[in-house]
Amino acid sequence: MALVVQKYGGSSVANVKRIKNVARRIVKTRRKGHHMVVVVSALGDTTDDLLKIAKAVTDKPSEREMDMLLATGEQVSVALLAMAIQKLGEKAISFTGPQVGIITDRSHTKARILNINAERIRAALREGNIVIVAGFQGKTVGEEITTLGRGGSDLTAVALAKAVSADRCEIYTDVDGIYTADPRIVPDAQKLDRISYDEILELASLGAQVMQPRSIEVGKKFNIPIHVCSSLREVSGTLIAKESQKMEDVLVSGVALNENEAKITIFKVPDRPGTAAKIFKELADSNINVDMIIQNKTETNSTDISFTVFKNELTRAMESVKQVAEKVGAKKVLCDEHIAKVSVVGIGMRSHSGVASKMFDVLAKNKVNIEMISTSEIKISCIVHSNKGKIAARAIHKAFGLGRK
Ligand code: ASP
Ligand code: MG
Repeated sequence: MALVVQKYGGSSVANVKRIKNVARRIVKTRRKGHHMVVVVSALGDTTDDLLKIAKAVTDKPSEREMDMLLATGEQVSVALLAMAIQKLGEKAISFTGPQVGIITDRSHTKARILNINAERIRAALREGNIVIVAGFQGKTVGEEITTLGRGGSDLTAVALAKAVSADRCEIYTDVDGIYTADPRIVPDAQKLDRISYDEILELASLGAQVMQPRSIEVGKKFNIPIHVCSSLREVSGTLIAKESQKMEDVLVSGVALNENEAKITIFKVPDRPGTAAKIFKELADSNINVDMIIQNKTETNSTDISFTVFKNELTRAMESVKQVAEKVGAKKVLCDEHIAKVSVVGIGMRSHSGVASKMFDVLAKNKVNIEMISTSEIKISCIVHSNKGKIAARAIHKAFGLGRK
């Protein structure tokens, strides 16, 4: 008999049929004798729809009211799921995040969990209930409702698994697990049996969104193995866990393609201490996320700085950059939306050399020009022209032997 935490995402409970399907799966596990805590997201696109309504009411909704609004989505799904389980003859009770003592800081819309007092969940379990908890929400010490950032139900699940010392944490979603690449782009991508916390964190930040990155950070911190599996099909999923020797022997675990970034280049920036600080402070103050940054000193007394930003923030980024470029005496600013970022990720890179040269060689053989390169301990990313992104991802995936044999 185990204590299992399961999480079902919005698409897994998008309609009545799916809610009933999820209820049946839960009851099946329960009837094997396990105790269960189930975390659910809002039905289907509810959160997006609520955001749209708020934006239609005002272009600057206050963050406190935003949380009041968004938290309603999950309250609907927990109640419906509890009803569906009761209908199948099992005891179930639903709770909101605040009701089960999920205490967060006060950063509305992206709050961090500070503490969970799991006593109420434990009591409900002792009474024989399947406990259904609303994902994505909590409250401050001052009783204000908060939400945990988009995709935050994953975080609720992993944090609850820690709080109740669960034996298993299972994340159910509409994909079968984590793949070596996005199967829509690389048709012969394969499902991974296992991946390390660090690799999935890199893949998530590279745009291969399977789980909310912060939930993985919490999993890593407390060493909670996370099983990602399909809520629709009975297939084994992917285990996210601490790295093992066997994982290190694999050079590359996955290839990611990100087509949502644009490149900005500032030419002839005077080569003086403090210039980069000024430029990036301006961007940070405007709340613009900057990804890859490359600076190169040219022969003259100036440097060229290139970096990437999200395409949907490009207009705002260009406004800020143009202003600050003029202030620091740079020559000109140009942007390019026609870029794609291809990356390879693998903890094997820590102990093996030659991954970068192989990747560059594959790109060369496929006549793909590299515009920018950046690396970390377990990742190599190249910016290429947008019309070469998919070709590059497929070629690299094949060259590292990730496709179906
Ligand atoms: N409903 C929230 C969202 O769509 C939380 C979640 O799905 O995990 O972001
Ligand atoms: Mg959702």
